[in-house]
Amino acid sequence: MYEAVINNDANYDGLFFYGVLSTGIFCRPSCQSKKPLSDNVRFFLNAGEAIEAGFRPCKRCRSDLLTYHPMKDIAETLKHHLDELYERQVLWSEELRKIGLSERRAVEIFKEAYGMTPKAYMDSLRLNEAKRLLAQTDTKIIDIAASVGFGGLSTFNRFFKERTGCSPNMYRKKHK
Ligand SMILES: [Zn+2]
Repeated sequence: MYEAVINNDANYDGLFFYGVLSTGIFCRPSCQSKKPLSDNVRFFLNAGEAIEAGFRPCKRCRSDLLTYHPMKDIAETLKHHLDELYERQVLWSEELRKIGLSERRAVEIFKEAYGMTPKAYMDSLRLNEAKRLLAQTDTKIIDIAASVGFGGLSTFNRFFKERTGCSPNMYRKKHK
């Protein structure tokens, strides 16, 4: 149990809680709060036991809430962000900084929840939007490229061709 706490192992969330004697607060194993010394830790099977023993719930990991899916919540936040702002990668890294996630960890969490990397997800959003604009509008291809987040036409052409087997121009001719 202590090892799970030290490793912030979310797999143990809901299976037990730990209280820290020096702070009087109890947490979920995945809580990102300061690592407690093992002598200072008491373990509980549920939140009720911890409260009965005089511990207060942690504000950070919300150990008082019954249903709590931190990783799922984070994955949803990330997905929501990508849905809205997939064309601006700068904000993606800003969002990660706000949540306090490393790029690597964000990729792991996202992949676990949705079976693909944020990059792959974002690419599929960009591709779908590009296809839509090509087939349904008269927007110039260079403007479409920019609106789905590509700085240049050649990178957009390559991206598009790699995934559809034809150039944006061809795609437009076929589908418009
Ligand atoms: Zn906590």
